[in-house]
Order: sequence, then structure tokens, then C-alpha cells
Amino acid sequence: MNKTIRQMVWERALGRCEYCLLQQTHEPLGPLQIKRIVARQHQGDDDLVNLALACLLCNSHKGTNLTGLDPDSGNITRLFPPRQNSWQDHFRRDGAFIIGGTAIGGTTVWLLQMNYVERLELRHFLLEKGEEL
Ligand SMILES: [Zn+2]
Repeated sequence: MNKTIRQMVWERALGRCEYCLLQQTHEPLGPLQIKRIVARQHQGDDDLVNLALACLLCNSHKGTNLTGLDPDSGNITRLFPPRQNSWQDHFRRDGAFIIGGTAIGGTTVWLLQMNYVERLELRHFLLEKGEEL
């Protein structure tokens, strides 16, 4: 992946994880990563449309998954597709919590463990500092 593509992904994402919206300046674990939304394992390529910026935790929990089990219905549900839908289509915030507003959102929140205690503590800390999340 060349430098121009990497820069375009960073700029398009406004320097935020496209799943949990954490900014690089708020990420204590390491640099945000460029990941394939559809992994090579599923014939995903390095086209700009298949790339997303993700924090370490979202990236590691998503892995090569394209779907997950909806925690409410138990149905196999696709994960949030950052290129096809906007974040607001599937998620909302309630304080430090990220809430799935659709089956896709709820499944993605659950699979990527967006409300795992350490992630909540970080978002609480940032909100108390007056940071915009
Ligand atoms: Zn994230």
C-alpha cells in the first residue's frame, strides 16, 4: 500500500477509528491502523473503497469477520460497513457508551467489544477532560 493511499484513508477518516471514532490523539495503545474491511481471506483487496482506519482494539476484534451474531436476536448479521453507511445510521452515543441503533450496529458494538470496561473508562476520562469524542 503506497503512501498516497495511506494518506487518503487517514484524511477520509479524519484521523479517527471508523468503528468507535477514537482519535489517534486519544489512543493509548498505539497507532491507528489501516485495515481491509473485507479481508484478503474473503477476496478483499487494497482498493481505497475496501480500506478503513481502525484502532488497535476494533481492528483486532473485527479480524476477518464480516458478520456476527446479533446479541438481541441471535441472527447472523453483517458488520457495519464504513464505506456503504454512515456511523450515525447504526450507532449513537449515550455518554461514554456506544449504542447500536440497528441490528448491524448492535452486532458490531458487541463483536468489536466497543463498550468493554477499559474502553468505557478511556471515553469517560476523555469526556471528563472535555474532549470531543
Ligand atoms: Zn476503534
